[in-house]
Amino acid sequence: MLAKDGVEMFTLVDADKVEAANLKRHVLDRDYVGQPKVVAMKGHLRKINERVRVSALSEKFNGLPEKPDIICGCTDSLACDSLINAYAVQNGVPAVFGGVHGDAHTVEIITYVPAEGPCFECWEREGELPQPTQEKYTNPDYDSTKMPSQQGLWGDVLMAASLQFQAVLGILGSREKFPPLVLKSLRYPFKLETYDQGERCAVCSSDFSRLTA
Ligand SMILES: [Zn+2]
Repeated sequence: MLAKDGVEMFTLVDADKVEAANLKRHVLDRDYVGQPKVVAMKGHLRKINERVRVSALSEKFNGLPEKPDIICGCTDSLACDSLINAYAVQNGVPAVFGGVHGDAHTVEIITYVPAEGPCFECWEREGELPQPTQEKYTNPDYDSTKMPSQQGLWGDVLMAASLQFQAVLGILGSREKFPPLVLKSLRYPFKLETYDQGERCAVCSSDFSRLTA
């Protein structure tokens, strides 16, 4: 989406390879199976715009060689998002985190704008977490590390990605401030909730009062 919109410099960080199991929820197709995801995406982005310059780092996130204008966290891993958040806060880089919950019906988009905050770690999830899929009881090959293969998944992923994309454009263009947290049900009846977070956490401020051991 960013390449189609004219962004021409990307640094991609991911240690995984493209697997057949990814294809149902990925923009890449069969031609790329077996390749490192970042190398495959580099090829894909060059097809969209030949002027695109891509630095492909086939490794786990461990900071970035150059300070970027913005970071997109697309990991669905709280541990990795925490690493990205720490880098973003430390280096004053805006970031947009996008992820889905449960069987991907609920999307969460968190934007971080340096100095303004809040950061990714400021958010404390309240209430019941979305229930996980029942597939583990019915599918003998169920793998809890992989997203379930329910009908409509690609549409859910595209809607989540679209919200994250719009948040990135909002920050890059300093357009109307994008809500810092969006929790949205991607299935009918569609539901949108946004939250404001005033208090800053110990990661993005020097206030340690909310830290618990
Ligand atoms: Zn914070």
